[in-house]
Amino acid sequence: MPQPHAPSHLAADAIVIGAGLAGLVTAAELLEAGRSVIVLEQEPEASLGGQAWWAFGGLFLIDSPEQRRLGVRDSLELARQDWYASAGFDRDDEDLWARRWADAYLEFAAGEKRAWLHGMGVRWFPVVGWAERGGGTAMTHGNSVPRFHITWGTGPGVVAPFIARVRAAQATGRATLAFRHRVDELIVEDGAVVGARGAVLTPDPAARGAASGRGVAGEFEARATSVIVASGGIGGNHDMVRAQWPARLGTPPEHMLSGVPAHVDGRMLAISERAGGRLVNGDRMWHYVEGIENWDPVWARHGIRILPGPSSIWLDATGKRLPTPLFPGFDTLGTLEHLRKTGHDHSWFVLTQKIIEKEFALSGSEQNPDLTGKDVPLLLERIKKGAPGPVEAFKRNGADFIVADDLDELLRGMAELEPEVPFDAERARAEIVARDREMANEFTKDSQVAALRQARNFKGDKLIRVASPHRILDPAAGPLIAVRLHVLTRKSLGGLQTDLSARVLGADGAPVPGLYAAGEAAGFGGGGMHGYRSLEGTFLGSCLFSGRVAGRAAAGA
Ligand SMILES: Cc1cc2nc3c(=O)[nH]c(=O)nc-3n(C[C@H](O)[C@H](O)[C@H](O)COP(=O)(O)OP(=O)(O)OC[C@H]3O[C@@H](n4cnc5c(N)ncnc54)[C@H](O)[C@@H]3O)c2cc1C
Repeated sequence: MPQPHAPSHLAADAIVIGAGLAGLVTAAELLEAGRSVIVLEQEPEASLGGQAWWAFGGLFLIDSPEQRRLGVRDSLELARQDWYASAGFDRDDEDLWARRWADAYLEFAAGEKRAWLHGMGVRWFPVVGWAERGGGTAMTHGNSVPRFHITWGTGPGVVAPFIARVRAAQATGRATLAFRHRVDELIVEDGAVVGARGAVLTPDPAARGAASGRGVAGEFEARATSVIVASGGIGGNHDMVRAQWPARLGTPPEHMLSGVPAHVDGRMLAISERAGGRLVNGDRMWHYVEGIENWDPVWARHGIRILPGPSSIWLDATGKRLPTPLFPGFDTLGTLEHLRKTGHDHSWFVLTQKIIEKEFALSGSEQNPDLTGKDVPLLLERIKKGAPGPVEAFKRNGADFIVADDLDELLRGMAELEPEVPFDAERARAEIVARDREMANEFTKDSQVAALRQARNFKGDKLIRVASPHRILDPAAGPLIAVRLHVLTRKSLGGLQTDLSARVLGADGAPVPGLYAAGEAAGFGGGGMHGYRSLEGTFLGSCLFSGRVAGRAAAGA
């Protein structure tokens, strides 16, 4: 074991900081180009793959065979329109490279992305999902068509080919995977980044995703021609999230859940800044409003996001229905902005057993054992009666779920779960009864009822995602369910500004010699290629893309 004050020395052609998806893709590309690579990772080996291992594996693809088979007509032009309308780029300087990355990424998602992954054995579930629907007019925010392609094997299925490529090189000695190596400083000499220094942390048996200890066993110094920062975002660091919370989203909630493991600590961003890198768009973040407390947590404040179908009624903490078009799955940040104005941290879904069975997907590889395990018999259980096992487990054990046979009992349960909040049960009742009345009105003015009828025109939604329209109070659809929803932190949309070769730029706009960034640390490319808002399924894909770009560029350095 290395002794304090006697740092271990490592050297290779390139150093990659972070063994998440972006870091592994970068390393795999460098290795493919014949370079030697050291991957420095603060967590134990059990957490190899970072956040991607936990991910649902939804990938944004444009005009794919899966879309075409379902009758979806998509194009690069349409996707670009949606992307720009959602991103809302409005900063000349900070968005300069972000826009260029958005364009390059859109080309990739419409072009090489699918074939490249397919060539490595990645496959997709045949039913494409329709995330972030927008709900406005044709040219405003949201996906005009379904584009969320769920990977067969979910997040682990996306990351597996890259782990395999890096492991193969590790066996021949060209790749070194240095776990428990936490970078505390980048080494800068003559204006160029030439390596990294840090602490060798004590071994820790922490399970995947669980917080590991920060005891120090020694020091290390690693040197290379290129250093690539792939250290992820800030979502696990609530102090940082609060400090960067933008005024346009109101005040940050007092109570938030964490949708990412503790290692998503944001520490490496300031370390990169000290080495000359420029951080941009830190106020842009992608948090969810449909978070539920994990009844079986892996990390502190562990929250799971519900990927909801469109039928649940969404009420604020006081019992008032959310305005149009803030329906489940339509506009993530629009809903967050609205809810922050209510003065309360939580909100409610009210639904039926029939809706939960068809419309509740829980984001995360471990919440979808059928898709993650590529288990067809288990997958087929989804079309049987009853909610999928993990959803049912939440319904039974989750602190946020109320199940009742009648509305009085349900409303009482909602009020009792949040005794400090003035819940207007009569208002909530009126909202539900009025919405139900619209079920008998074929030409309803209720936009949500119209939207869910129309969603079923898409085969994928009709098949597995949108329950046949029914009254919430129809006893045949029951029991009734209320779910308390919390804000859940997840993605950082800003980060280190990079050019199209993934070189980190300094305050003067020139590349910092030797320094590259990929994945969430780089705002998924360019310091924020999503702008203000995402179309979903765009995060894993941009880690793949920016990692590929960084690895290839650094290999040529
Ligand atoms: C539950 C869940 C579901 C998701 N579902 C989807 C989805 O369906 N589709 C989609 O597109 N996206 C999804 N995402 C988002 C996506 O998974 C992440 O944005 C992406 O994996 C980030 O990858 P990364 O490599 O940039 O960062 P990370 O995975 O965070 O990896 C960074 C690594 O760097 C290490 N590190 C940090 N600092 C240091 C340091 N100083 N020294 C050494 N090591 C360091 C960390 O320990 C970590 O291992 C999901 C995320 C979660 C958590």
